[in-house]
Amino acid sequence: MNILCSEGFLHFFNAMQIETVSLDDILNLTPDALNNIADEFHLGKFEIKIEFSGPIRDLKDYNITRILYESNDGHEHFAHTRCIKNQEKGNIYYVVFPVKGYNYTVDDKTKLDFIIKYINLIITRSITNELLNRRQFTDYMTQLPNTAYFMKFSNDLGIRGILNKYTLIFSNLKGFNYINQQMGSQAGDSVLKEYSKKLKNFYSSDEIIARFGGDNFVALLKNERVEEYINYISNINISIVNDNKTKTLSISARSGIYPLPALSGNVGEAINRANASLIYAKKIADSDCEWFTDSILERINKDREVVSGFRTALIHKEFLVYYQPKVNVITKKIAGCEALVRWKHNGKILPPGMFVPILEEEGLICDLDFFVLEKVCEDIRNWLRNGITPPRISVNFSKHHLKNQDLINDVISILTKYRINPDYLEIELTESATSDDFKAMTQFVDDLNDHGIRTSIDDFGTGYSSLSLIKDLHVNVIKIDKSFVDNIATEDSKDKIILGSILTMITGLGMNVIAEGCETVEQARILKEMNCNMIQGYLFDKPLPQDEYTEKLASAYIYPIDI
Ligand code: C2E
Ligand code: CA
Ligand code: CA
Repeated sequence: MNILCSEGFLHFFNAMQIETVSLDDILNLTPDALNNIADEFHLGKFEIKIEFSGPIRDLKDYNITRILYESNDGHEHFAHTRCIKNQEKGNIYYVVFPVKGYNYTVDDKTKLDFIIKYINLIITRSITNELLNRRQFTDYMTQLPNTAYFMKFSNDLGIRGILNKYTLIFSNLKGFNYINQQMGSQAGDSVLKEYSKKLKNFYSSDEIIARFGGDNFVALLKNERVEEYINYISNINISIVNDNKTKTLSISARSGIYPLPALSGNVGEAINRANASLIYAKKIADSDCEWFTDSILERINKDREVVSGFRTALIHKEFLVYYQPKVNVITKKIAGCEALVRWKHNGKILPPGMFVPILEEEGLICDLDFFVLEKVCEDIRNWLRNGITPPRISVNFSKHHLKNQDLINDVISILTKYRINPDYLEIELTESATSDDFKAMTQFVDDLNDHGIRTSIDDFGTGYSSLSLIKDLHVNVIKIDKSFVDNIATEDSKDKIILGSILTMITGLGMNVIAEGCETVEQARILKEMNCNMIQGYLFDKPLPQDEYTEKLASAYIYPIDI
C-alpha cells in the first residue's frame, strides 16, 4: 500500500483538497489532480457518470457524463467500474480503463477504489453543499426562487451595471382567496405549485421569477419581454386534483410594473414601487396592470400613512365628531342630526373622504365607528347633564360590522356605559349587494329594533338601492341621496318624477324620509311640495363642531329661511 504515500499521490491529494464550492469547479480540477497519479495507477481513461432520477428537478441538473482523464497512449477495453449510491435516488459511476497494454490486478483495484472513494467524497460533499445553498434560495412549496435569491440575483445584475435592461413586475393572482375558501387550502397549494411550474417555463437563465410568499410573484425580466409576460399571465390554465376529480382552472394575474432606472442600486425600493402600482391597479384603478407613476407612489404612501397612523390617532383622540342638523321644514327647527367624523391631524382637519374609504379597505373602520358612537353617547350624557334634550342623533355604521357576531351586544354595552336611552340614537346603514350581507343586515336591524334603536338606509338611490329589498328590511328611515336632490330643481327633471314615486312608495310602507345634500331654497321648496319635510344640507348648516351645535341646541334655533 506504500504507493498511496507516494509523491504523486500526495500531489493528487493536495490538488483535490482545495476548498472548492461548485461541482463544476471540482470536475475542472480533477483531471490535473489525476495527472499526478496517472503513471502509478496506469490510467488509460477515467470517466464519471452522475445519474439522478425521481421527482426532484434540482438533482437532475447534476446528471452528466464527463471524461476526467485520458492518456495519449490509449486504453484497454476492460474497465474497473464502481457504482456508488449517493443522495436520494442517485448513482455515481466511476469507470477506470487501464492504459493500453496493462490489466488491473486485484491489488490495483483495491488502490483504485481508495482513490474513487476519495473523489466521491469530495463530489458528494459539493453536491450536498449546493443543494443546501439552493434550499436556502428556493421556495419550498413551489420550488421557485425565493425572496433571498431574488435579492442576490438582482444585486448581481446591479454589480454588473445592467439592471436598466430589466423591468420588475409584481403580480398576484386574481380570486386566489376565493379558491382557498371554496376549495380548501390544499387545493390552494396545488394551484400555487402548478402555477409556479408554468412560470418556471417562462423565464430564461438571465431572468428570474420568484415567489414572495402567498400568491405574490415578482419577476425581473428583460425590458423587451414585459408585454409577452403580461400576456402570458393574463390567462394560465392549470389542472389540479380536488375531491378526487381533476379540475382545470384558468388563472389570471394582476400586476404592477416598474422599469428599473439606469442608476438604481436599490432593488428594495423598486419592489415597493412595483407593489404600489399593483395595489393601485387592484384597489383604485381596477385594472389588470399598472405601470408605475409618481402619483401612484404619492397616493399609496398617503394610504399607508393613514393606516399606520390610525391606531395612535384613536388612542390620542385625534378624531372629532361633528354634527350636521336635520331640519323640519315646517317648523324650521332642528329635528335631529347626523354625527360625522373628522380627523385632526398635524393641525389640519381632514374630511372623512380622505381616510374612511382606506380604513374600510383595511377593515379598520369598525373601531372608528365605535369611537364615534361612544363620543356621541358621551356628548348626549353631557347635554342632558346641562339641561339640553338633544334630538335624535344618527351614527354611520359600515357594512364591515355585519361580520361581527356580537355586534348588537357591543352596541348596547356602550349605551349602557353612558346610561343612554336608545331613543336618542339612530344607526345609518348602506344597502348591501350580497345576500349574505343582506341576511346579516336584516338581523342587525331587527336586533336594534328590539332594543328600541332606530335605523336608516343611507345614500338611497345610489348603487344597489332596491325598493323590493327595502320592504323586507324593517328600517325606520330612508335617506334620499344628494344626487337626487341635485337634479330636482332642473326643468323637466326625470329625477323629480322618479323621486316622487319613490316617496309615495316609502311613505306607503310606513317609513320616514329625509333628503340629504339640499343646498338651495328652491330644492327645499320642491322637497316640501313632495311631502318630504325632513331635510339635511348646506342650505341649513354644514356639519358643525360640537360647541357650535350645542349653541344652536341651547338657543332652540329657528332657521330664518323662507321655504
Ligand atoms: P354620508 O354618510 O352620506 O354623509 C353625508 C355627507 O354629505 C357628509 O360628508 C356631509 O358633510 C355631506 N353633505 C351634507 N349636506 C351637504 C350639502 O348640502 N352639500 C354637499 N356638497 N355635501 C353635503 P362628510 O362629512 O364629508 O362625510 C362623507 C362620508 O364619510 C359620509 O357620507 C359617510 O359615508 C362617511 N363617514 C363620515 N363619518 C363616518 C363615520 O363615523 N363612520 C363611517 N363608517 N363613515 C363615516
Ligand atoms: Ca350617513
Ligand atoms: Ca348619505
